[in-house]
Amino acid sequence: MGVVKPVKSSLRRAAAAIRQARLVAFPTETVYGLGALAGSPRAVLRLYAAKGRPRFNPLIAHVATAGEAHRLVRFDDRAELLARHFWPGPLTMVLPRLPGAAVSRIACAGLPTLGVRVPDHPVALALLRAAGRPIVAPSANPSGRLSPTRAGDVARTLGGRVTMVLDGGPCRVGLESTIVDLTCRPARLLRPGGIAREAIERLIGRLDAAGGAIIAPGMLESHYAPRARLRLRARSAEAGEAFLGFGQMPPLAPEIPALNLSPNGDLTEAAHNLFSFLQTLDRPHVRTIAVAPIPTFGVGLAIQDRLARAAAPR
Ligand code: AMP
Ligand code: MG
Repeated sequence: MGVVKPVKSSLRRAAAAIRQARLVAFPTETVYGLGALAGSPRAVLRLYAAKGRPRFNPLIAHVATAGEAHRLVRFDDRAELLARHFWPGPLTMVLPRLPGAAVSRIACAGLPTLGVRVPDHPVALALLRAAGRPIVAPSANPSGRLSPTRAGDVARTLGGRVTMVLDGGPCRVGLESTIVDLTCRPARLLRPGGIAREAIERLIGRLDAAGGAIIAPGMLESHYAPRARLRLRARSAEAGEAFLGFGQMPPLAPEIPALNLSPNGDLTEAAHNLFSFLQTLDRPHVRTIAVAPIPTFGVGLAIQDRLARAAAPR
Protein backbone atom coordinates (compact mmCIF):
# COMPACT_ATOMS: atom_id res chain seq x y z
CA MET A 1 0.00 0.00 0.00
CA GLY A 2 1.21 3.48 -0.74
CA VAL A 3 -0.05 6.89 0.32
CA VAL A 4 0.59 9.02 -2.76
CA LYS A 5 0.06 12.59 -3.90
CA PRO A 6 -2.61 12.74 -6.59
CA VAL A 7 -0.65 13.73 -9.69
CA LYS A 8 -1.15 12.68 -13.29
CA SER A 9 0.95 9.50 -13.07
CA SER A 10 -0.49 8.29 -9.74
CA LEU A 11 -4.04 9.00 -10.93
CA ARG A 12 -3.36 6.93 -14.03
CA ARG A 13 -2.08 4.07 -11.85
CA ALA A 14 -5.05 4.41 -9.51
CA ALA A 15 -7.51 4.21 -12.41
CA ALA A 16 -5.72 1.14 -13.77
CA ALA A 17 -5.89 -0.51 -10.33
CA ILE A 18 -9.64 0.21 -10.15
CA ARG A 19 -10.19 -1.35 -13.59
CA GLN A 20 -8.23 -4.42 -12.42
CA ALA A 21 -10.74 -4.83 -9.57
CA ARG A 22 -8.35 -3.59 -6.88
CA LEU A 23 -9.20 -1.10 -4.11
CA VAL A 24 -8.12 2.54 -4.10
CA ALA A 25 -8.88 5.02 -1.31
CA PHE A 26 -9.45 8.59 -2.46
CA PRO A 27 -10.58 11.93 -1.03
CA THR A 28 -14.04 13.35 -1.59
CA GLU A 29 -15.49 16.55 -0.13
CA THR A 30 -17.33 14.47 2.52
CA VAL A 31 -14.89 11.80 3.81
CA TYR A 32 -12.29 9.49 2.25
CA GLY A 33 -13.90 6.79 0.11
CA LEU A 34 -12.76 3.22 -0.46
CA GLY A 35 -13.25 2.80 -4.19
CA ALA A 36 -13.97 -0.34 -6.21
CA LEU A 37 -15.12 -0.92 -9.77
CA ALA A 38 -18.91 -0.89 -9.40
CA GLY A 39 -19.55 -3.31 -12.27
CA SER A 40 -17.15 -5.98 -11.02
CA PRO A 41 -18.52 -8.57 -8.55
CA ARG A 42 -14.94 -9.51 -7.64
CA ALA A 43 -14.03 -5.90 -6.82
CA VAL A 44 -17.24 -5.35 -4.85
CA LEU A 45 -16.73 -8.52 -2.79
CA ARG A 46 -13.19 -7.42 -2.05
CA LEU A 47 -14.54 -4.08 -0.84
CA TYR A 48 -17.06 -5.66 1.55
CA ALA A 49 -14.31 -7.93 2.90
CA ALA A 50 -11.79 -5.10 3.37
CA LYS A 51 -14.27 -3.05 5.42
CA GLY A 52 -15.79 -6.02 7.23
CA ARG A 53 -19.06 -4.53 6.05
CA PRO A 54 -22.25 -6.59 6.32
CA ARG A 55 -23.36 -7.67 2.86
CA PHE A 56 -26.92 -6.39 3.43
CA ASN A 57 -25.62 -2.80 3.39
CA PRO A 58 -25.75 -1.44 -0.16
CA LEU A 59 -23.05 0.82 -1.62
CA ILE A 60 -23.26 4.24 -3.25
CA ALA A 61 -22.21 4.48 -6.90
CA HIS A 62 -20.07 7.52 -7.69
CA VAL A 63 -19.99 9.04 -11.17
CA ALA A 64 -18.34 12.12 -12.68
CA THR A 65 -21.46 13.71 -14.18
CA ALA A 66 -25.24 13.71 -13.84
CA GLY A 67 -25.34 12.38 -17.41
CA GLU A 68 -23.59 9.20 -16.30
CA ALA A 69 -26.00 8.86 -13.37
CA HIS A 70 -28.85 8.83 -15.90
CA ARG A 71 -27.39 5.60 -17.30
CA LEU A 72 -27.65 3.92 -13.90
CA VAL A 73 -30.99 5.01 -12.43
CA ARG A 74 -34.35 6.41 -13.51
CA PHE A 75 -34.69 10.10 -12.63
CA ASP A 76 -37.99 11.83 -11.91
CA ASP A 77 -38.75 15.56 -11.74
CA ARG A 78 -37.54 15.83 -8.14
CA ALA A 79 -34.28 14.04 -8.87
CA GLU A 80 -33.58 16.32 -11.85
CA LEU A 81 -34.14 19.38 -9.67
CA LEU A 82 -31.95 18.13 -6.83
CA ALA A 83 -29.16 17.07 -9.20
CA ARG A 84 -29.14 20.53 -10.80
CA HIS A 85 -28.91 22.22 -7.41
CA PHE A 86 -26.61 19.99 -5.44
CA TRP A 87 -24.35 18.04 -7.83
CA PRO A 88 -21.48 17.87 -7.68
CA GLY A 89 -21.95 17.76 -3.91
CA PRO A 90 -22.76 15.80 -0.75
CA LEU A 91 -26.20 14.53 -1.81
CA THR A 92 -26.92 10.85 -2.54
CA MET A 93 -30.18 10.02 -4.29
CA VAL A 94 -31.73 6.56 -4.08
CA LEU A 95 -33.63 5.87 -7.30
CA PRO A 96 -34.92 2.86 -9.29
CA ARG A 97 -31.99 1.05 -10.83
CA LEU A 98 -32.03 0.72 -14.63
CA PRO A 99 -31.64 -2.70 -16.24
CA GLY A 100 -28.09 -3.05 -17.54
CA ALA A 101 -26.65 -0.45 -15.12
CA ALA A 102 -22.87 -0.95 -14.78
CA VAL A 103 -23.18 -1.76 -11.08
CA SER A 104 -22.94 -5.28 -9.68
CA ARG A 105 -26.10 -6.63 -8.02
CA ILE A 106 -23.95 -7.41 -4.98
CA ALA A 107 -23.34 -3.68 -4.48
CA CYS A 108 -27.13 -3.13 -4.29
CA ALA A 109 -27.58 -5.81 -1.62
CA GLY A 110 -30.47 -7.28 -3.57
CA LEU A 111 -32.46 -4.02 -3.72
CA PRO A 112 -34.14 -2.84 -6.96
CA THR A 113 -32.82 0.65 -6.18
CA LEU A 114 -29.40 2.29 -6.30
CA GLY A 115 -27.82 5.23 -4.47
CA VAL A 116 -25.90 7.59 -6.77
CA ARG A 117 -23.78 10.69 -6.26
CA VAL A 118 -21.45 13.07 -8.08
CA PRO A 119 -18.74 14.05 -5.58
CA ASP A 120 -17.41 17.62 -5.44
CA HIS A 121 -13.68 16.99 -5.24
CA PRO A 122 -11.10 17.42 -8.01
CA VAL A 123 -9.25 14.18 -7.12
CA ALA A 124 -12.42 12.09 -6.94
CA LEU A 125 -13.61 13.52 -10.26
CA ALA A 126 -10.22 12.99 -11.91
CA LEU A 127 -10.18 9.35 -10.77
CA LEU A 128 -13.75 8.78 -11.99
CA ARG A 129 -12.94 10.30 -15.37
CA ALA A 130 -9.73 8.29 -15.70
CA ALA A 131 -11.46 5.04 -14.73
CA GLY A 132 -14.31 5.83 -17.10
CA ARG A 133 -16.78 3.70 -15.11
CA PRO A 134 -18.86 4.08 -11.95
CA ILE A 135 -16.98 3.48 -8.70
CA VAL A 136 -18.68 2.29 -5.52
CA ALA A 137 -17.10 4.01 -2.56
CA PRO A 138 -18.24 3.71 1.05
CA SER A 139 -16.19 5.49 3.70
CA ALA A 140 -12.64 4.12 3.87
CA ASN A 141 -12.79 2.77 7.44
CA PRO A 142 -13.46 -0.61 9.03
CA SER A 143 -17.24 -0.99 9.28
CA GLY A 144 -18.73 0.69 12.35
CA ARG A 145 -15.69 2.83 13.20
CA LEU A 146 -15.07 6.57 12.80
CA SER A 147 -15.07 7.82 9.21
CA PRO A 148 -11.69 9.00 7.87
CA THR A 149 -11.26 12.65 6.92
CA ARG A 150 -7.47 12.48 6.38
CA ALA A 151 -5.30 10.10 4.33
CA GLY A 152 -3.46 9.07 7.51
CA ASP A 153 -6.72 7.81 9.07
CA VAL A 154 -7.14 5.45 6.10
CA ALA A 155 -3.54 4.26 6.16
CA ARG A 156 -3.74 3.52 9.89
CA THR A 157 -6.96 1.49 9.82
CA LEU A 158 -7.11 -0.09 6.34
CA GLY A 159 -3.53 0.30 5.12
CA GLY A 160 -2.85 -3.38 4.49
CA ARG A 161 -6.05 -3.88 2.51
CA VAL A 162 -5.86 -1.21 -0.18
CA THR A 163 -3.64 -0.90 -3.23
CA MET A 164 -3.22 2.85 -2.92
CA VAL A 165 -4.38 5.86 -0.89
CA LEU A 166 -4.59 9.13 -2.83
CA ASP A 167 -3.77 11.91 -0.37
CA GLY A 168 -5.85 15.00 -1.09
CA GLY A 169 -5.47 16.57 2.35
CA PRO A 170 -8.32 16.94 4.87
CA CYS A 171 -11.91 16.64 3.59
CA ARG A 172 -13.76 19.94 3.38
CA VAL A 173 -17.23 18.89 4.63
CA GLY A 174 -16.09 16.17 7.03
CA LEU A 175 -19.44 14.34 7.21
CA GLU A 176 -20.95 11.79 4.84
CA SER A 177 -23.49 12.73 2.18
CA THR A 178 -27.16 13.34 2.89
CA ILE A 179 -29.12 10.35 1.54
CA VAL A 180 -32.63 10.91 0.16
CA ASP A 181 -34.89 8.09 -0.98
CA LEU A 182 -36.81 9.30 -4.04
CA THR A 183 -38.60 6.02 -4.76
CA CYS A 184 -41.60 7.23 -2.72
CA ARG A 185 -43.72 10.36 -2.21
CA PRO A 186 -43.00 12.25 -0.08
CA ALA A 187 -39.30 11.47 -0.37
CA ARG A 188 -37.56 10.14 2.74
CA LEU A 189 -34.45 11.35 4.53
CA LEU A 190 -32.42 8.14 5.01
CA ARG A 191 -29.36 9.82 6.48
CA PRO A 192 -28.76 13.47 7.43
CA GLY A 193 -25.44 14.70 6.06
CA GLY A 194 -23.47 17.40 4.32
CA ILE A 195 -26.51 19.07 2.73
CA ALA A 196 -29.04 20.46 5.18
CA ARG A 197 -32.49 18.88 5.20
CA GLU A 198 -34.04 22.36 5.03
CA ALA A 199 -32.24 23.10 1.73
CA ILE A 200 -33.70 19.95 0.16
CA GLU A 201 -37.20 20.60 1.53
CA ARG A 202 -37.20 24.08 0.02
CA LEU A 203 -36.95 22.42 -3.40
CA ILE A 204 -39.06 19.25 -3.18
CA GLY A 205 -41.21 19.75 -0.09
CA ARG A 206 -41.36 17.91 3.20
CA LEU A 207 -39.15 14.86 3.71
CA ASP A 208 -40.46 11.90 5.67
CA ALA A 209 -38.33 10.35 8.38
CA ALA A 210 -36.76 7.01 7.55
CA GLY A 211 -38.60 4.25 9.38
CA GLY A 212 -38.99 0.52 9.40
CA ALA A 213 -36.24 -1.76 8.12
CA ILE A 214 -32.61 -0.69 8.18
CA ILE A 215 -31.74 0.09 4.60
CA ALA A 216 -28.65 2.22 5.06
CA PRO A 217 -25.60 1.30 7.21
CA GLY A 218 -25.62 4.81 8.57
CA MET A 219 -28.99 3.78 9.99
CA LEU A 220 -27.52 1.03 12.15
CA GLU A 221 -27.87 2.12 15.74
CA SER A 222 -24.19 1.75 16.64
CA HIS A 223 -21.92 3.24 14.00
CA TYR A 224 -19.15 5.80 13.64
CA ALA A 225 -17.80 4.64 16.99
CA PRO A 226 -14.50 5.55 18.65
CA ARG A 227 -12.97 3.09 21.15
CA ALA A 228 -13.85 5.36 24.10
CA ARG A 229 -17.44 5.76 25.29
CA LEU A 230 -19.26 8.97 24.46
CA ARG A 231 -21.24 11.12 26.92
CA LEU A 232 -23.49 13.59 25.12
CA ARG A 233 -24.83 17.04 26.10
CA ALA A 234 -22.02 17.30 28.66
CA ARG A 235 -21.40 20.59 30.49
CA SER A 236 -17.96 19.61 31.80
CA ALA A 237 -15.57 16.66 32.10
CA GLU A 238 -14.02 14.83 35.03
CA ALA A 239 -10.83 12.80 35.52
CA GLY A 240 -10.50 9.99 32.95
CA GLU A 241 -12.62 11.89 30.45
CA ALA A 242 -11.78 14.10 27.48
CA PHE A 243 -13.94 17.07 26.46
CA LEU A 244 -15.14 17.94 22.97
CA GLY A 245 -16.55 21.46 23.07
CA PHE A 246 -18.68 23.66 20.85
CA GLY A 247 -18.75 27.43 21.34
CA GLN A 248 -17.84 28.70 24.80
CA MET A 249 -15.71 26.14 26.74
CA PRO A 250 -16.53 25.36 30.39
CA PRO A 251 -13.73 25.57 32.95
CA LEU A 252 -11.78 22.27 32.81
CA ALA A 253 -8.97 20.79 34.92
CA PRO A 254 -5.64 21.16 33.09
CA GLU A 255 -5.14 17.39 32.74
CA ILE A 256 -8.39 16.94 30.76
CA PRO A 257 -7.61 16.63 27.03
CA ALA A 258 -9.94 19.07 25.27
CA LEU A 259 -10.70 20.30 21.77
CA ASN A 260 -13.29 22.77 20.49
CA LEU A 261 -15.27 21.87 17.35
CA SER A 262 -15.93 25.54 16.71
CA PRO A 263 -15.12 28.31 19.23
CA ASN A 264 -17.53 30.64 17.34
CA GLY A 265 -20.34 28.09 17.26
CA ASP A 266 -20.17 27.56 13.47
CA LEU A 267 -21.83 24.23 12.53
CA THR A 268 -20.03 23.93 9.18
CA GLU A 269 -16.69 24.23 10.93
CA ALA A 270 -17.83 21.75 13.60
CA ALA A 271 -18.81 19.18 10.92
CA HIS A 272 -15.42 19.59 9.27
CA ASN A 273 -13.64 18.90 12.58
CA LEU A 274 -15.93 16.23 14.07
CA PHE A 275 -14.35 12.91 13.02
CA SER A 276 -10.72 14.05 13.17
CA PHE A 277 -11.19 15.55 16.66
CA LEU A 278 -12.89 12.36 17.88
CA GLN A 279 -9.92 10.39 16.47
CA THR A 280 -7.51 12.69 18.29
CA LEU A 281 -9.32 12.47 21.66
CA ASP A 282 -9.76 8.69 21.39
CA ARG A 283 -6.54 7.95 23.32
CA PRO A 284 -5.81 4.84 25.40
CA HIS A 285 -6.16 6.57 28.80
CA VAL A 286 -9.41 8.32 27.85
CA ARG A 287 -12.36 6.27 29.16
CA THR A 288 -15.09 8.62 27.95
CA ILE A 289 -15.30 11.56 25.59
CA ALA A 290 -17.75 14.14 26.98
CA VAL A 291 -19.33 16.14 24.15
CA ALA A 292 -20.95 19.58 24.52
CA PRO A 293 -24.54 20.11 23.29
CA ILE A 294 -24.82 20.80 19.54
CA PRO A 295 -27.77 22.66 17.94
CA THR A 296 -29.84 20.40 15.67
CA PHE A 297 -30.63 22.71 12.75
CA GLY A 298 -28.81 22.76 9.41
CA VAL A 299 -25.79 20.47 9.33
CA GLY A 300 -26.09 20.21 13.14
CA LEU A 301 -28.72 17.51 12.54
CA ALA A 302 -26.08 15.33 10.85
CA ILE A 303 -23.53 16.03 13.60
CA GLN A 304 -26.11 15.05 16.22
CA ASP A 305 -26.93 11.88 14.26
CA ARG A 306 -23.27 10.77 14.11
CA LEU A 307 -22.75 11.52 17.81
CA ALA A 308 -25.88 9.62 18.85
CA ARG A 309 -24.72 6.54 16.89
CA ALA A 310 -21.19 6.82 18.23
CA ALA A 311 -22.69 6.86 21.74
CA ALA A 312 -25.07 3.93 21.14
CA PRO A 313 -24.52 0.67 23.05
CA ARG A 314 -22.38 -1.79 21.07
P1 AMP B 1 -21.26 4.83 3.29
O1 AMP B 1 -20.81 4.93 1.88
O2 AMP B 1 -20.53 3.84 4.14
O3 AMP B 1 -21.38 6.16 3.92
O4 AMP B 1 -22.72 4.25 3.20
C1 AMP B 1 -23.46 4.33 2.02
C2 AMP B 1 -24.87 4.62 2.33
O5 AMP B 1 -25.73 4.64 1.20
C3 AMP B 1 -25.40 3.56 3.20
O6 AMP B 1 -26.10 4.14 4.25
C4 AMP B 1 -26.24 2.74 2.25
O7 AMP B 1 -27.17 1.92 2.86
C5 AMP B 1 -26.86 3.81 1.44
N1 AMP B 1 -27.43 3.26 0.24
C6 AMP B 1 -26.80 2.88 -0.87
N2 AMP B 1 -27.66 2.35 -1.75
C7 AMP B 1 -28.89 2.37 -1.18
C8 AMP B 1 -30.19 1.95 -1.56
N3 AMP B 1 -30.42 1.39 -2.74
N4 AMP B 1 -31.19 2.12 -0.71
C9 AMP B 1 -30.98 2.71 0.50
N5 AMP B 1 -29.77 3.12 0.92
C10 AMP B 1 -28.73 2.96 0.10
MG1 MG C 1 -19.44 4.68 6.32
